[in-house]
Amino acid sequence: MRQKMVFGNWKMHGSFEQIQHLLQDVILGLAGEESTVVGICPPYPYLQLVKKLCSNTNMKVGAQNVSQHDSGAFTGEVAASMLSDLGVNYAIVGHSERRELYGETSDLVAKKFMASQCAGITPILCVGETLVQRDNGETEAVVLAQLQAVIAAAGVEAFSNAVLAYEPVWAIGTGKTATPEQAQEVHRLLRKHVAALSEDIAANLQILYGGSVKDSNAGALFTQADIDGGLVGGASLHAEQFIAICAYTES
Ligand code: PEP
Repeated sequence: MRQKMVFGNWKMHGSFEQIQHLLQDVILGLAGEESTVVGICPPYPYLQLVKKLCSNTNMKVGAQNVSQHDSGAFTGEVAASMLSDLGVNYAIVGHSERRELYGETSDLVAKKFMASQCAGITPILCVGETLVQRDNGETEAVVLAQLQAVIAAAGVEAFSNAVLAYEPVWAIGTGKTATPEQAQEVHRLLRKHVAALSEDIAANLQILYGGSVKDSNAGALFTQADIDGGLVGGASLHAEQFIAICAYTES
């Protein structure tokens, strides 16, 4: 059976002081929770602090981005090996904000995915369609192309050590959530695509839903057959919300 997962993506929010308070509350609220994989992806400068605060807990720590390069003259970039040095376990790759605001293509995302795995970091690969693409009936083609670009570069076997996240762009930070049925339909499609190449890998692949997940919708989303938890943005900045969302993975 696939283990449920909830990851908080703090994006570019927080300060040294805020993060300590937030994380202490989250850790306290999740104490004893072992059945779900819970992780936090803070901004780079706070990775070490978060890692330290999580040291005696089951919580995982992830980065929000990673360079495709191993090292070199790449000002402002952070290599996967550096994240690994800090004890970071996961890295988000292909988040729609990186694709949209920083022009990251699926080819680049594939390189970041592979660079993460080479350094022992589990990539969380995000795929998702825009509202225009959904309205044009292109959801299936868009998400499968984003997934296939990584499969073509890394091989389907690489997905035995990766997490997939379906994040409809129109639902991120907008307060609009995909209905559980809409989300399930895409999750089922993604799993089916992987299953055509390896049934085993597809059966074990954790596919998270992301897009305005809150405590009011997490329950219905997380009980869908192919939804294995959530990638949570805004609500992960509120300890009570995040704890409540995590609790829905137990039902
Ligand atoms: C995200 O950034 O991955 C996300 C899902 O954000 P939000 O939950 O705020 O929509």
